[in-house]
Amino acid sequence: MKMKNVLVAGGGTLGSQIAYQSAYFGKQVTVYDVSDAAITAAEKKIDGWDASYRTDMHATDDQINAAHANLTFSTDLAEAVNGKDIVIEAVPENLDIKKSFYKELSAVAAPETIFASNSSTMTTSELNGFTDRPDKFLNLHFANQIWVQNTAEIMVSDKTDPDVEKAVVAFAREIGMVPIVMQKEQHGYVLNALLGPFTNAALALWGNGVADPQTIDKTWMIATGAPRGAFAIMDEIGLPSLHTILSNGRTDDVPDGFDAGLDKIQQMVDEGYKGQENGKGFYNYPNPAYESKDFLK
Ligand code: NAD
Repeated sequence: MKMKNVLVAGGGTLGSQIAYQSAYFGKQVTVYDVSDAAITAAEKKIDGWDASYRTDMHATDDQINAAHANLTFSTDLAEAVNGKDIVIEAVPENLDIKKSFYKELSAVAAPETIFASNSSTMTTSELNGFTDRPDKFLNLHFANQIWVQNTAEIMVSDKTDPDVEKAVVAFAREIGMVPIVMQKEQHGYVLNALLGPFTNAALALWGNGVADPQTIDKTWMIATGAPRGAFAIMDEIGLPSLHTILSNGRTDDVPDGFDAGLDKIQQMVDEGYKGQENGKGFYNYPNPAYESKDFLK
């Protein structure tokens, strides 16, 4: 299966990164979004990634220009999907929005076009019924800052054609990702299934007054050799988003102290602590304390 022409639906945080990464690695990419204003915002985000690719990927001017030359933008779904081998859907994490998007997409896409969802929380079987092609549908999940945190988690349903899975695994490699192929469906894939209980436990220790965030991170870093701890990761996610994710996803089996920890995060958000985004979180940025040698003493 040819995987050269790509449609990225939704040019927000992740969509703009997926589009850039694919274009940077030589794919012809169209970004589809709902309005001219959304497209303008997507173009601005994409321009913003230039600096990251220069710093982190040592991209040259020629490479940056070539990436931009591979990108087009559209607010017309039928026109945008015409001739595409794969659609990567990165519309908001809302079941109704995904459902109506896939209905509209199914009506205008050629039968051979593969659909891949970047949904963080919905499984392949929860989404494939909204499409006219469960055999050509799977999840392809990227992490924020995809050019450096380059996992591509691949989840299929029992209806996905194995050749489609193979083609998407190859595509992921072609755009510089490390494919993580899951053997069965799992909420949160591999990464978030690990990260969720980890951040919940850290938050509960803090909420319960067992230890402060720096001590909790330091313990993890010294004992496992990890470069960062849970609270540093929370700063990267961003404290307002983190609060929303943890409140919406709260289950009955959270550890003791979790709710108190969540309240403390709310208090930080109210006081203007957003994490890495505004340089103020559990740590101050740039040059957070956990990067200094003394932190581990
Ligand atoms: P976002 O809100 O930043 O962007 C969503 C984009 O979709 C916006 O540009 C919006 O205008 C557009 N949109 C809305 N309705 C649309 C429609 N019907 N058709 C096309 N475009 C539409 O969201 P995001 O953070 O980029 O998340 C998108 C998806 O990626 C979600 O499924 C999310 O779970 C997943 N994801 C997000 C992250 C993250 O860190 N933000 C990480 C991995 C996966």
